[in-house]
Amino acid sequence: MTYENPPAPGAGAPEPRRLFIKSYGCQMNVYDSQRMADTLAPEGYVETADPAAADVVVLNTCHIREKAAEKVYSELGRIRKLKDAAAGDGRRMVVAVAGCVAQAEGEEILRRAGSVDLVVGPQSYHRLPGLLGRAEAGEKVVETEFPVEDKFDILSPPSRAATRKRGVAAFVTVQEGCDKFCTFCVVPYTRGAEVSRPAAKIVAEVERLAAAGVRELTLIGQNVNAYHGVGADGRDWTLARLLWRIAEIPGIARLRYTTSHPRDVGDDLIAAHRDLPALMPQLHLPVQSGSDRILAAMNRRHTRADYLAVVGRLRSAQPELALSSDFIVGFPGETDEDFRDTVRLVETIGFASAFSFKYSPRPGTPAAELTEQVEESVKDARLQILQEAIERHRAAFNASCRGRTFDVLFERPGRHPGQLVGRSPYLQPVQAIAPAALVGQLRPVTVTEIGPNSLFGALAAPEMTSVQRGREIAAGA
Ligand code: SAM
Ligand code: SF4
Repeated sequence: MTYENPPAPGAGAPEPRRLFIKSYGCQMNVYDSQRMADTLAPEGYVETADPAAADVVVLNTCHIREKAAEKVYSELGRIRKLKDAAAGDGRRMVVAVAGCVAQAEGEEILRRAGSVDLVVGPQSYHRLPGLLGRAEAGEKVVETEFPVEDKFDILSPPSRAATRKRGVAAFVTVQEGCDKFCTFCVVPYTRGAEVSRPAAKIVAEVERLAAAGVRELTLIGQNVNAYHGVGADGRDWTLARLLWRIAEIPGIARLRYTTSHPRDVGDDLIAAHRDLPALMPQLHLPVQSGSDRILAAMNRRHTRADYLAVVGRLRSAQPELALSSDFIVGFPGETDEDFRDTVRLVETIGFASAFSFKYSPRPGTPAAELTEQVEESVKDARLQILQEAIERHRAAFNASCRGRTFDVLFERPGRHPGQLVGRSPYLQPVQAIAPAALVGQLRPVTVTEIGPNSLFGALAAPEMTSVQRGREIAAGA
C-alpha cells in the first residue's frame, strides 16, 4: 500500500489518524520530520497543523544549544493539557519525543514528563510505525539504540502530492553524524559516527523529487563535505562528484549544500564552484572563532590562516561567492584579545551573513568540563559587538545587490496580492510582483530596494537581461 493509493473509504477502512510534528533546530530536523510523516502516511496518518486535534504529537527536538531540553519540557507541559483535554473527549493522544534531546535524555524524559509515551532517537525513525503501535497499545517505549540497519533503506519516500505541497526547493540528507569531535558539540554523541549514503540512493531520491517539480536542491549533512558514499563505479565519491551527477538530473536547476567543515573543502569542490553552473555562488562555512588559541581548544583542526586560505581559493574559483558562517563567543578561556581576533576575521572576510551564538556548555562534551567558563554578562557583551559587525557586512552585501539583475527561483505567493517570493542565487529572499504561474520558475529580477530581511525587485524583460548581463560580464562582475 502506498500513500498515493490510500484504502478506499467505506466498511473496514481504518479512520485516518491525525499527526502533528513540531521541528526544532536545523534543516536536518526539518528533513527528518518530513521523512517521519512520509513513513507514517502509508499507515494511515495524515498531517495536521493543529496539535489539539492530533492523535499523535511528535516533538522533533534539537540539543545543540542552551536550554534546548528545558524548552522541550515546557512544551511538553502545554501538550499535557491538550492530552488531558483529548482524554476528556474520550480520545487517546500519543505523545512522542524524537531528535537529539530524545537521544541524549532517553529514559529521563519519561521520568520528568509523564505525558510522554514514546522516546525515539534520530537513527530509529524507520521503526516509528511499530513503535507508535506499541505506544498506542499503552506501553511506554524508549528507542535510542543505534540500529544496524540503514534507516534510509526503510523510510518511505514522500508521495508526489506531499512533495508538491512542500514546494520547489527541497533538502536531501546525504551524510549523517560526525567524527570531528569539536569540544563544544553534542552532534558526534547524539547523531553518532559519520555515515554517507550511497550515491545511487541519493540520485533515485532526487529523481523522484525532480519529477514532482523540485527545482532547487540542498544536500544536507552535519559534515556534508566529508561525504564519501559509494558511487555508481563502486568507488567512494566525493561531494563534488555527487554534485556533478545530481546536476545531470532533468529539472534540477540549482544546487547547494550545507553544513561544511573548512578542513574538508577539497580541490574538486573548489573546482565545482568554478565549473558547475547549477552550484549556487553561496556557501555556509562555519569557522566558530578567529583566534588560533580558541580554535585549538575547540579541536577545530584548522587555524585562522587555514580558513583564510580556503576562503581565498574559493573566491578565486568563484568571485561571486557569498559566504556565511557560524561563530561561538565566550568559549571557555576566551580572552578579550581572542574575541578581537574573531571580530577582525569578520571584518577581513566580510561575510554576506552569519549566525552567532553564546557558548553553552553541553553535558558530556569536553568543553563543559573546562574550569575557565566565561561570565554570562561578558558573553552577552561580546555577542552584541559581534552581531553588530556581522549585521554591518550583511547590510553592505545586500546594498551591493541594488540595481543588479539575477535569476530568482520563485517559491510561493508573497504577503501582498500579486507578489511572489523567491530566492536569489545568494539565498536572499526576493519579493517581486509576478504572475502566480511563475512559481517554480527561474526568472531574471532587477533589485530595486533593500528591505531589512529581503530584497525587492521587478521582473526584468529577458532581452534587457541579456544586455545587462553582457554589460555585467564586460564589467567583470
Ligand atoms: N557541523 C557544523 C560545523 O562544523 O561547524 C555545525 C553544526 S552545529 C549543528 C551548528 C552550530 O551550532 C555550530 O556551527 C556552532 O556554531 C553552534 N554550536 C554547536 N554547539 C554549540 C554550543 N555548545 N554552544 C554554542 N553554540 C554551539
Ligand atoms: Fe559538531 Fe560540526 Fe564540530 Fe562535527 S564538525 S563536532 S557537527 S561542530
